[in-house]
Amino acid sequence: MYDYLIVGAGLFGSTFARLATDAGKKCLIIDKRDHIAGNCYTIKKHGIHEHVYGPHIFHCNDDLIWNFVNRFAKFNTFVNRPIAINNGKVFSLPFSMYTFNAMWGVITPEEAMKKIESQRLKLNREPLNLEEQALTLVGEDIYNCLIRDYTKKQWLKDPKELPASIIKRLPIRMSWDNNYFYDKYQGIPIGGYTAMFENILEGIEVKTKIDYFANQEYWNSIAKKIVFTGKIDEYYKFEHGELEYRSLRFETETMPYNNHQGNAVVNYNSLDIPWTRMIEHKYFDQSNANDNVTIVTKEIPDIWSRNKTPYYPIGDEKNTLIFKKYMSMAKSEINTIFGGRLAEYRYYDMHQVIQSAFNKFKENI
Ligand code: FAD
Repeated sequence: MYDYLIVGAGLFGSTFARLATDAGKKCLIIDKRDHIAGNCYTIKKHGIHEHVYGPHIFHCNDDLIWNFVNRFAKFNTFVNRPIAINNGKVFSLPFSMYTFNAMWGVITPEEAMKKIESQRLKLNREPLNLEEQALTLVGEDIYNCLIRDYTKKQWLKDPKELPASIIKRLPIRMSWDNNYFYDKYQGIPIGGYTAMFENILEGIEVKTKIDYFANQEYWNSIAKKIVFTGKIDEYYKFEHGELEYRSLRFETETMPYNNHQGNAVVNYNSLDIPWTRMIEHKYFDQSNANDNVTIVTKEIPDIWSRNKTPYYPIGDEKNTLIFKKYMSMAKSEINTIFGGRLAEYRYYDMHQVIQSAFNKFKENI
């Protein structure tokens, strides 16, 4: 008999399993994929660690979380400095003096502020949607050039139909600092995320290529408690309807030369190019990269259907209402713990998933 049967070898499941094992509990993790690490999974090709489910940059402010991941990997000093291309013009992200300089030729923060102020939408109420939110923050030029069409591509929806909350995530800087994140800690595990997960899971029993739902009764019978990190609507047989996600397609190519785009992340902000961003994987971790090849991946948003991989939860009213119904069912479960981005139906960065696993572990141990 196991103390915990953990469904999903992603970051939530693996963190929970580590904490429980360290506390003397017996755990088994199952995952329907043929590998561990969930969406953080990396594979090594030509000395390059390819981020198979999209680029993953670890960042956080919390010492406990940073110390936790550093138990299992050494992190490099990678700093995320993405750029955006629109009609052959290059802009720096996040919006900083570099961006304002490329957009208007301004040199000082005061000039940039004046320009933005003259274009900002002034409302005496809260913005109702993403378009209003963006226009109140940065004004027309930046919205039209760097936000509007990118958002349409990313969400396959008009920005007027999307919640304002999405755009609050975009940092705006009145300085020449083009580090995308504000966090105290940032980096990529040297040797790839998969190696980090192998270390997190050391000494813990893991079975891959197993779908919990194919034999749910059996799995429930071999453990005192279940930790479920899959889709919460699937757990409840879609009783209250189906939650929607933004899915993605990744097109990866190996190029027979050293350098393709000169940066880890390049966003494509116009509608004439179908991908939202292109990743050049060797820029994340250059420790063993081969000089003769490089690997690039185009990330293309895809309409959701049940047989596709769920990536980003859609936080609109309809889906939030459905999720609340599942959440109230989950609250009454005694032996099942729900955690992670699919079971909590939240966009979580990696450090937030670890925090959630810490919290759920404390509540349930
Ligand atoms: P997952 O990684 O999805 O793990 C859940 C696991 O459960 C999966 O392996 C799945 O196969 C398994 N599973 C589901 N159902 C079943 C079942 N029925 N039976 C068995 N197994 C099952 N975060 C950052 O901090 N920085 C970034 O730069 C960043 N970039 C991202 C880029 C993209 C494109 C995406 C989509 C996410 C990004 N994230 C980033 C977020 C990060 O991926 C998540 O925070 C993290 O992977 C979530 O971990 P999880 O364990 O909740 O989910």
